[in-house]
Amino acid sequence: RMIQEAAMSFSETLLMPNAAEWDEKKHFPKDVIKEAADYGFAGIYVKEDVGGVNLGRKEASLIFEALSTGCVGTSAYISIHNMCAWMIDVYGNEDQRQKYLPSMTTFDLFGSYCLTEPNSGSDAIAMKSTAEDKGDYFLLNGEKAFISGAGDSDVFLVMAKTGEKEISCLIVDGDTEGLKFGKNETKMGWNVQPTRAVIFEDCKIPKENLLGSRGQGFKIAMSGLDGGRVNIASCSLGGAAFCLDTATEYIKTRKQFGKPLANFQYLQFKLAQMATDLEASRLMVRNAADMIDQNSEEKTMYC
Ligand SMILES: Cc1cc2nc3c(=O)[nH]c(=O)nc-3n(C[C@H](O)[C@H](O)[C@H](O)COP(=O)(O)OP(=O)(O)OC[C@H]3O[C@@H](n4cnc5c(N)ncnc54)[C@H](O)[C@@H]3O)c2cc1C
Repeated sequence: RMIQEAAMSFSETLLMPNAAEWDEKKHFPKDVIKEAADYGFAGIYVKEDVGGVNLGRKEASLIFEALSTGCVGTSAYISIHNMCAWMIDVYGNEDQRQKYLPSMTTFDLFGSYCLTEPNSGSDAIAMKSTAEDKGDYFLLNGEKAFISGAGDSDVFLVMAKTGEKEISCLIVDGDTEGLKFGKNETKMGWNVQPTRAVIFEDCKIPKENLLGSRGQGFKIAMSGLDGGRVNIASCSLGGAAFCLDTATEYIKTRKQFGKPLANFQYLQFKLAQMATDLEASRLMVRNAADMIDQNSEEKTMYC
């Protein structure tokens, strides 16, 4: 409850009052996101030795739902950053953990997750980006599409082919030569976070930036996404909860046909159904989060 209240207070004071203006101006509120780190929201399920708060996925779900009542797009970016930090925490070696995570858990470094390509979305394994082994570095070429935070973030977790049937995950620093970005995509909603193509032109990625082992990249990407989907679903819960509360208040004050809309039984049924659907979704999402916490063999199916 304390975690939920802290997230709710952050959401009500720093996100909610500004969300509409940020969306209209396509403003990515990095300063406010950085403040979220003071609450532990930059490394929610990252271990404590590198600055994380080491909570579970159910707590993370509660946090993202609460944050999203104020701004879904900002919270969704924070959730993607958390996914990236977790991937380094779990699959990174000690040097990688110590190099990136103390700065990621304070939001001094922003993370981005790079899997999707122009011609490989759901069919992620069909990616074309390549990371050719050149001895002491990988030569990375290709293009990723729809990358959240791109252009503003500092650390990119990039899935690329290191062989005909081998996908690996590389940590790419934001100042890498040959790293370029497309225009900020036009979207309906989620305008508070930039979405751009990320282009790699002969980027030299040091061998020590390989996350996990060669060929483990697809597994790393998918295990990140298990939790990533729970997080994004939690953000949707927060947005829906805010809409339901707003609609409930509105029909109490808006009068038509001589009485408040809330007096019409059709609308009472409609809101009751919305509340039921929201609670059912909440139970599904929390159950999926619990499956990850329990490391259930069936977790991916529930995510
Ligand atoms: C705002 C935004 C932010 C994003 N951020 C990131 C990010 O940070 N990093 C990243 O890597 N990606 C990101 N993505 C990409 C996102 O994950 C992809 O959009 C997603 O994987 C789907 O791929 P696609 O858009 O190419 O759709 P497609 O794969 O082309 O699918 C189109 C439709 O067909 C359906 N479909 C596909 N295959 C099948 C099938 N076999 N059977 C039945 N139906 C099918 C899909 O469900 C979908 O409805 C982002 C996307 C958006 C919109």
